[in-house]
Amino acid sequence: MPTPTLSFEFFPPRTDAQTRRFWRTLGCLETLQPDWFSITYGALGSASQASIDTVAQLGKDSSVPVAAHLTCAGQRRADLIDVLQSFKSQGICRIVALRGDKAEQNTSEKFYHLRFASELIELIVEVGGFDISVAAYPEVHPEAESAETDMALLKHKLDLGASRALTQFFFEPEVYLRWRDGAVRTGIDKPLVPGILPIHDINKIVDFSRRCGATVPQFLIERFQKCGSKAMSRELAIEHAVDMCQVLQREGVDAFHLYTLNQSDLSYEVAKELVGAHKKRAAA
Ligand SMILES: Cc1cc2nc3c(=O)[nH]c(=O)nc-3n(C[C@H](O)[C@H](O)[C@H](O)COP(=O)(O)OP(=O)(O)OC[C@H]3O[C@@H](n4cnc5c(N)ncnc54)[C@H](O)[C@@H]3O)c2cc1C
Repeated sequence: MPTPTLSFEFFPPRTDAQTRRFWRTLGCLETLQPDWFSITYGALGSASQASIDTVAQLGKDSSVPVAAHLTCAGQRRADLIDVLQSFKSQGICRIVALRGDKAEQNTSEKFYHLRFASELIELIVEVGGFDISVAAYPEVHPEAESAETDMALLKHKLDLGASRALTQFFFEPEVYLRWRDGAVRTGIDKPLVPGILPIHDINKIVDFSRRCGATVPQFLIERFQKCGSKAMSRELAIEHAVDMCQVLQREGVDAFHLYTLNQSDLSYEVAKELVGAHKKRAAA
């Protein structure tokens, strides 16, 4: 099995303490030689300018390439072009192109705004010079008309010029594998990189997943509830994420996108196991 390719997703840090921790843990993750880091844009209420600043700083200070998430809902084409040009001038050439939260639009202005990620991809291709990733949903996007429409729209995004899709997180490998089979039947032949979210706090993750349309299986919730200490929960979180990745690797998956939620220590342990497990196999 080849060494898995890894990417790590972060929110832009907001406070001084978060910023210090962010740079410390980033240094730690750099030692695993990931393919890229990515910084979310406006997610969970974070300011878009904070994303742009963090991306710029990372572009200068990190040895690992950085991908900038960019959302388009309700944004003006001209403003998005400015952001893209600014990334380009700083050597940032990877974009995760997203819709973001649906925005209410002023009717007189709606023709200047973008509505779907596909429109952003067209714009990025027009500006030129970027590697584009898009979002995909193994459990179907909550607003999609149907699973079939959702898959067809994903194919459309990839056909427009995206190089890969990064999936929403899921907690059972079968969820991803069934969905990937459907994607192949639809004619999708670009990488579908599984998004892995190590469970740092089961109650928070159940709540967060509900909002994202992802399912945390009952058996997993019960396993976490039986953990008698934080240390046991942490061990279980690592074991669950690593086991899931290893099942996926046996099914031919060779890249993972880790949602760190800025809790990089868990992601580090999971990634270390995956890279370490590979080295052990290669040496055997
Ligand atoms: C890997 C990943 C990273 C993310 N990062 C961020 C981030 O940084 N910031 C943030 O705010 N959010 C982020 N999100 C969340 C994302 O913005 C939301 O899930 C959003 O609701 C949908 O974004 P999208 O790019 O998938 O949208 P789209 O691909 O535009 O799809 C949105 C919905 O519209 C439907 N649709 C698409 N095109 C059409 C069409 N032409 N006609 C009719 N219906 C259509 C789709 O089926 C779907 O239901 C991320 C999600 C993932 C999986």
